Order: sequence, then structure tokens, then C-alpha cells
Amino acid sequence: DDAKTKLPGLLVKAACSSIVSAEPEITRMDTICGDGDCGTGLKRAAESVLRHLEKEDIPLHTPDTKTGVSAPLFATVGRYINEGAEGSSGALYNILFTATAAALKRLEDEKSPPQGIRAIGMAVKEGIDKLCEIGGAQPGMRTMIDALTPACDALAQAAGKGPKAALEAAAKAAQEGAEATKTMDAVKGRASYIPAEQMKGTADPGAYAVSVWFKALADAYTD
Ligand code: ADP
Ligand code: MG
Ligand code: MG
Repeated sequence: DDAKTKLPGLLVKAACSSIVSAEPEITRMDTICGDGDCGTGLKRAAESVLRHLEKEDIPLHTPDTKTGVSAPLFATVGRYINEGAEGSSGALYNILFTATAAALKRLEDEKSPPQGIRAIGMAVKEGIDKLCEIGGAQPGMRTMIDALTPACDALAQAAGKGPKAALEAAAKAAQEGAEATKTMDAVKGRASYIPAEQMKGTADPGAYAVSVWFKALADAYTD
């Protein structure tokens, strides 16, 4: 039904469009901190998702879920990101979204599962854990995890204040997390081959991208 797919569709569109717009800035950052392809890679990934959204082959709402959240939404978005991307971040996002979808599916089997933003917060937490496990990075290593982890924590903490306030708290935490990478040394990924001096003062491109799409989600959310 239209009403139940409208908001998720709006949010997916807002997040992806924000990444398309941020491409030049992400490119600039990955030119300093990596091999320069993070902006175009994420832009292609976002455009891939937008194309599938247009064709209505993203399950924005699945009826009869106890959490009120569509697990297949996360699974397909992960797949379409991976389809479009070229660098590591496409594969990393695929891991994040696939593991988040699996966690959401599992929550469905609980006796009294969490709802909405609370369910998403718990599931994304598991997604991040999987990302750390497979990618080998931990918080503090100058990666997107440094924006994702505080954002997810803030989301869970502010869940009681309602989705809009929770997303705003998450966006703020992601922005602060990305900011904090400016003084971190890279341990993982291509950035670890770049002289630390060159990167000081520039945020990790992947972490910055996370702050961009979280802000877009917070801005686009309407009750
Ligand atoms: P590549 O390094 O292959 O060119 P991208 O440019 O697409 O990959 O993405 C770079 C971003 O990916 C980094 O800014 C960082 O945030 C993130 N990243 C790199 N390695 C990891 C990892 N092992 N775990 C989590 N995120 C990572
Ligand atoms: Mg790169
Ligand atoms: Mg690359």
C-alpha cells in the first residue's frame, strides 16, 4: 500500500541523492587519503539503487512484519549498492546491509520484537559487527566504522524520542565521528599506505559519506 512505502522510498531516495551530490567532495578527500575512487564508486552505487527504486524493484514495505521494518529492503539495497560500486566500499556496504537484513529477519522470530527505529538500531549494530569481523577494522582505525558506530549508538539511545529526533541524533553523531577521523592514523584499506602527515586535517572519505547520508535521512524524515 502507498502510505507504507512512501516514507521508506523518500528516505532511500534522499540518502542516495545526497551521495550523488557529495561526489566531488568525497573524491577530493579520497584523492588526499586514498586512491581517489571513493566518490565515483559511491555515486555509481547510489545511482544503481536509485535506478532500482525507480523501477519499483526494492521491497520498501513487507506486510505482516512484527518489527514494522522490511528486512528485504536492506538486503536488496545492499545488493544494488554492490552491483553499482567499484571500490571496496561497495562490498563493505553489501556486508553491512546483508547482515542488518539477517538480524531484522531474526528479530521477527522474537516473542515481543522491537519496533521501527529501535529494531533498525539493533539490526544495524549487528551489521556493523559483521563489517568489523569480515573487513578486519575496529573503531579508531580511520574508516567508515568511526561514523557508523556512534551514529548507530545514538540512534538506539534516542529511539524513545521518536524516529525524527533519533535520526537527528544519529546524524550529529555521524558528523562528529567523521570529524574525529581527521586526526586518526589509518590502519586499514588504501589509506594505510598514505603518509599520515598528508591526511591530517582531512576526514576519512568513507566516514564522511556516512555522515552525509545520515544527515539526508534526518532531513527527509517526516512523521
Ligand atoms: P578502495 O580503498 O578500494 O579504493 P573505496 O575508495 O571505495 O575503496 O572506499 C574507501 C573507504 O572505505 C575508506 O574511506 C574507509 O572508510 C572504508 N574502508 C576501507 N577499508 C575498510 C575496512 N576494512 N573496514 C571498513 N571500512 C573500510
Ligand atoms: Mg578509494
Ligand atoms: Mg580503489
